[in-house]
Amino acid sequence: MNVHEELLVGGEWRKPESQARIAVVCPSTEEVIGQVPDAGADDVYMAVRAAREAFDHGPWRAMSVAERIEVLDGALQLLGSRIDEIGTLVTAQMGLPTSIAGVQIPGALDTGRYFLQVAQDEPVTEVRQTRLCAAAVVKEPVGVVASIAPWNGPFNIAISKIIPALVTGCSLVYKPAPETPLDAFLIAEALTQAGLPAGVFNLLTGGRETGAALVAHPGIDKVSFTGSTAAGRDIGRQCGGSFKRLQLELGGKSAAIVLDDADITTTMTGLAMGCFFNTGQVCAAYSRVLLPTSRYDEFTAALAKTAESFVVGDPFDPATSMGPLVSARQHERVLSYLDVGRDEGAVIATGGGIPPGLDKGFYVQPTVFTEADNSMRICREEIFGPVASVLRYDTVDQAIAIANDSDYGLHGAVFTADPQRAAEVARRVRTGTFSVNAFVYNTEAPFGGVKNSGVGRDTGPEAVRAYYELKTINLDALTAALFN
Ligand code: NAD
Repeated sequence: MNVHEELLVGGEWRKPESQARIAVVCPSTEEVIGQVPDAGADDVYMAVRAAREAFDHGPWRAMSVAERIEVLDGALQLLGSRIDEIGTLVTAQMGLPTSIAGVQIPGALDTGRYFLQVAQDEPVTEVRQTRLCAAAVVKEPVGVVASIAPWNGPFNIAISKIIPALVTGCSLVYKPAPETPLDAFLIAEALTQAGLPAGVFNLLTGGRETGAALVAHPGIDKVSFTGSTAAGRDIGRQCGGSFKRLQLELGGKSAAIVLDDADITTTMTGLAMGCFFNTGQVCAAYSRVLLPTSRYDEFTAALAKTAESFVVGDPFDPATSMGPLVSARQHERVLSYLDVGRDEGAVIATGGGIPPGLDKGFYVQPTVFTEADNSMRICREEIFGPVASVLRYDTVDQAIAIANDSDYGLHGAVFTADPQRAAEVARRVRTGTFSVNAFVYNTEAPFGGVKNSGVGRDTGPEAVRAYYELKTINLDALTAALFN
């Protein structure tokens, strides 16, 4: 059992004011494997006060980027020495197969180092000669950040939120998802051991109410949120009222457009990842697959075979390629969408329920719906499970229109042997991210969405820049010399 009775606030591990606790359940065994505080309003108040104090009066913000990089690199090294432990926690909390965790955790640390490199290369002062005078454009940390994460990639999302915010000089209150809070304690320990000044990083565990109290607190300058579109909308309203800076990575309903000249092996490799990776609990998932009528039957049969090739089961078994869904709630939700699809008239080509013999644990079969129509709920709403809906089109214009007919705009793909056609489709689909002949999550380029998929970008150099405010200092001739 991983029982945590304390939260990191103001540089100290403290017992929370709140008496409430959250049980962490392992989705493959349904057993309780941990317990963390469910932070209340008083705990939120103290964490924000500590972060505010650290930002307004502490040393972190005044340190050079190079000094901050040294501390954060030290923390990443400490985490690097605990990769197996982190991987085990992630697998136990969310059911990510160990074979995938073994790649994802070191990958997240590499991404953290990449962000440090970006910060190192990014000039923080630029002097511009304007018609009126010289102007120094200075990048300053945005302030105290509330960072709120989902459960579908606990460690890698944490690193992508924490490192860019801290390296720019911000202070942070970090709240992981209530389903997957355990690895965040290791991150907090590493940051403290590496010498991060008190109050710069504060850890609060809790659920929706903790998150909402954090967002509402007037001491917060910026909210960085990854999660559902519904919560993002509430947060956006709240932040709008007080002009808090906002970064929202929300849901998706991304379309993979398969053109009639696509290579079947390349397409299936991309769709295997795009539709089913992480048990489909991926915001960027290709949950709509658009097939040309001329090759509909061939590709549909291949996609069903691809779905059936996943080994669903115990995430701690190295042979497993698909673990359970994260929670009982998510299990019910995905199963209910399987009923919705059937009721709407879509046809199950494979899957459609709980895998035989896996009644314990939140397992669901990788599922392919054929004969789907873009007006169906299974094509409009985010299911967040291993469920692909296959739609038919006749012309490329039609396919692009279907792809764009969505409230979301996070990701998408085209599969084709013709680079000209690939480029044309990529330009015409309205999303924040797009991939050609693959499913790519590229942390070194901006990732994010348009429309209901969010605001801002969480990866690439833009992830670091998002934690800076620009200040212009209009200089007189004497002062200008100090900025050159
Ligand atoms: P969720 O919105 O329910 O919760 C996400 C986090 O926000 C949790 O920490 C939760 O406690 C907190 N929260 C919930 N409501 C809140 C509120 N009103 N105010 C403040 N905090 C609140 O989402 P989830 O079910 O944990 O995650 C799944 C969703 O996240 C999916 O819709 C998925 O598409 C999205 N997601 C998006 C990305 C992306 O980069 N675009 C990445 C991962 C997940």
